[in-house]
Amino acid sequence: NLTQRLAKVVKTMRGEARLTEANTTEMLREIRLALLEADVALPVVRDFISRVREKAMGEDVIGSLTPGQALVGVVQQELADIMGADLGKEATRLNFATQPPAVILMAGLQGVGKTTTVGKLARYLTGETRKKVLTVSTDVYRPAAIKQLETVSQQAGVDFYASESSAKPVEIAKAALDHARRHYHDVLIIDTAGRLGIDEEMMQEIAALHEAVTPIETLFVVDAMLGQDAVNVARTFNEALPLTGIVLTKLDGDARGGAALSVRHITGKPIKFAGVSEKLDGLEVFDPARMANRILGMGDILALVEEARKTVDIQAAQDLEKKLRSGGRFDLNDFKVQLTQMQSMGGLSGFLGKMPAQFQQAAQHANMDQANRHVRRMEGIINSMTPAERRRPDIIKAARKRRIAAGAGVQVQEVNRMLSQYEQMQSMMKKMKSGGMMKMMRSMKG
Ligand code: GDP
Ligand code: MG
Repeated sequence: NLTQRLAKVVKTMRGEARLTEANTTEMLREIRLALLEADVALPVVRDFISRVREKAMGEDVIGSLTPGQALVGVVQQELADIMGADLGKEATRLNFATQPPAVILMAGLQGVGKTTTVGKLARYLTGETRKKVLTVSTDVYRPAAIKQLETVSQQAGVDFYASESSAKPVEIAKAALDHARRHYHDVLIIDTAGRLGIDEEMMQEIAALHEAVTPIETLFVVDAMLGQDAVNVARTFNEALPLTGIVLTKLDGDARGGAALSVRHITGKPIKFAGVSEKLDGLEVFDPARMANRILGMGDILALVEEARKTVDIQAAQDLEKKLRSGGRFDLNDFKVQLTQMQSMGGLSGFLGKMPAQFQQAAQHANMDQANRHVRRMEGIINSMTPAERRRPDIIKAARKRRIAAGAGVQVQEVNRMLSQYEQMQSMMKKMKSGGMMKMMRSMKG
């Protein structure tokens, strides 16, 4: 499985400072295989791997991390983003911005957990947000299904609209909506009939229901155990209905969650809730980062990455402050450390924006925006200097500059520009010596 695969590769990738094509290829191949084994659809896997490769190349391996951990960090972040982490918390919230009753329409195959989820949602909305909820079933094909909804509604303590099993689904939904209006319900949740597989009649029926009641939320319910099939089912529902969100059920099972990845990829819609038991309290607001951890099964490497970054930054700031206090000079080694840290804090301009006014003035003078774009190249220039040159930049004369430029693959002007940036930074550091680097670093880390 994925955990074993990754563990193996993580072990083989020790002691490298940067993620490269060479040291990540094998690992990415393992991740690819593992995702396929977890029933994630091929195009989804392909897209994912190429995104990870792009993000990972050239990443520094921070502090105590191994390259394997650093790569898993990238994979985990990317997975979390695909799961919706980059959409923010807002994405999981149900929309009620409409004239009540807010209609929630449930869609999905038979047996995925629609009826159960109606009960869970009803309970959740009644408890958490004190909404007055009405439920109704349009599953006229199976009288037991209507009875089942009645039971879970009673358990959830919400009102249930009893539909005539001889009526048509659209008529039932309209009648329930009318009832909800007259009785001042805040929310009407409509449970629908599913089929065991994709079925033209079912899609037409749910589309007609959607048109008749214009729901503010159309939730696609999908079983986490569905595997490869999730792709086709999700695509069909997504094309037939303007879905607003996804509920992923049966996450208490042993499914790795490959379906989650596929469904997100196919629909682009946020996963809003996760079903985690058969009981009515088994509903959770979906957590993308946790889902990413589950799919990878490697614990929270991201937290480790963040911790390593903080430790390295704070340590470096302490070292520099000590050095400056004891009369040491701010040399190119220090400059390079500063450059790297500023990169990780959103670039030079972001860094300087957080500094006191007198330093911001100095920053404008130094044309920091341009510097921002050149940080990587500046690092390259410093890398091609000798240790002596880094400690005493004033010994760098014209001939040495040419050699350094050639070594870094840049023009001599760039070496000059880097040195003048350094001098500006050095004069800022002199002013800051008494101000306390540590205080500044801490305040920036929030
Ligand atoms: P529907 O046909 O889509 O309405 O599905 P149901 O709500 O009737 O659920 C089908 C089966 O799945 C029932 O036995 C439920 O108890 C079970 N079920 C639904 N959601 C979950 C869940 O999150 N976890 C588990 N373990 N079982 C669930
Ligand atoms: Mg049902």
